[in-house]
Amino acid sequence: MHLTAVTRNLNKLLDMKSMKLLDHYAQFNPSPLSLKQFIEFGKTATEAESFSFLSKEIPVRLSNIMKEINLLPGNLLHMPSLLILQDWYAKSFRDLSIFESQKPTPDTLEEFCSILKTVQTRHTNVVQTMAQGVLELKESHIVDNQTDMAIQYFLDRFYMSRISIRMLMNQHVLLFEQDADKTSRRIGIIDPNCKVRSVIVEAFTNAAFLCEEYYSRAPDIEIKGQLKVTNDKGKKIPLSLVYPPPHLYHIMFELFKNSMRATVENHDISELPPIEVLVAKGEHDVSIRISDQGGGIPRHITDHLFHYLFSTAPRPSMTPNKAPLAGYGYGLPLSRLYARYFHGDLILNSYDGYGTDAVVYLKTQTHEANELLPIFNKTSTRQYKSAVPIADWTDPSFCVNRGPNPRGNGKNRNSVNTTAEDQQNTAATA
Ligand code: ATP
Ligand code: MG
Repeated sequence: MHLTAVTRNLNKLLDMKSMKLLDHYAQFNPSPLSLKQFIEFGKTATEAESFSFLSKEIPVRLSNIMKEINLLPGNLLHMPSLLILQDWYAKSFRDLSIFESQKPTPDTLEEFCSILKTVQTRHTNVVQTMAQGVLELKESHIVDNQTDMAIQYFLDRFYMSRISIRMLMNQHVLLFEQDADKTSRRIGIIDPNCKVRSVIVEAFTNAAFLCEEYYSRAPDIEIKGQLKVTNDKGKKIPLSLVYPPPHLYHIMFELFKNSMRATVENHDISELPPIEVLVAKGEHDVSIRISDQGGGIPRHITDHLFHYLFSTAPRPSMTPNKAPLAGYGYGLPLSRLYARYFHGDLILNSYDGYGTDAVVYLKTQTHEANELLPIFNKTSTRQYKSAVPIADWTDPSFCVNRGPNPRGNGKNRNSVNTTAEDQQNTAATA
């Protein structure tokens, strides 16, 4: 019943021709680019060449993820926010899929650039709207374990797809729009000289500002490690890497907010221990470790940390008056996606009762920093349909590959926002 309704939904949003095009484009896998290719492309490609690549690649990426949206549980697809979101995707797909058959005349190129900007603006609030949709579902329905797993699986793929599509659109617009800054040393949003320390300090300063607004105090920072490297001429220069600074900033800002909140809440009137940052550079990776003494996280909840909507802070409103310090449960999972997008990673090591280390890994070499993209195929389709596995350990909440199942029995987690959901999961696994 759900599926029919959903198909009708898509049918309403897309005419027959666009539906056929959607099926056509969804047959192709997205083509991941490395940072090296982004840089070379940005330096040498003409606007027409960029147009010819993007006029197919963006519809391919859009259709791949739209097909997956279509596989979501029917009751989620009918939440008001999901309807809005599907409408945006359908509109953008229609707007962009007409270009592949067109010649790159000056008029077409101008029109393409302007449509890209329209799409960027239209999709500004996608992250919040999707989050809102999931909340609407959780508030109005009992969400079973299987549905919850499907949603978490989907959100990683959906947000990664969005990061990648925005990256492509940003690159084209910044390089070729009429008032493009041709003097900038940046290539689109990529900085060939992204100074790691500067981004860390900027993210820390802004997080500290927010922390002071909430708690009237904030911890200091201590940065150590390989902050300078020797260049070809034997001169010491600040450590930099080829990277989009907004991505690194996003990750650092989220990690600092988390560490600050934990530090302040774990230390009453006493002096706040500083947040320590270690930066290391090797042949393959740049590693950044952020260590706090915020009391750590009990091991039985560490698997929840990368679960969307998992938070121990009170949930702020979706349209708050001032930027919240915590509470959506999006900071860690989204930051990990940004890190993984160019084949880096983000891990957390916590010492319950003491503090937490968050480690970010980024690729040093641009040819190894490939986009990581979701592919719509039979394997991904199966993830939305697989049955709830039958327990094969005496503790049904235990999963041998990942340790304790994040959707386990929910003991000792009364302070967590997801309590209601956990109770449902307890019932589902009991
Ligand atoms: P937001 O989406 O606004 O970031 P949030 O901070 O609650 O909300 P996450 O950043 O994903 O969401 O973190 C999830 C939870 O993990 C937090 O609510 C907190 O309980 C725990 N956590 C994260 N980092 C730390 C840390 N450094 N020390 C202690 N607990 C932490
Ligand atoms: Mg956070």
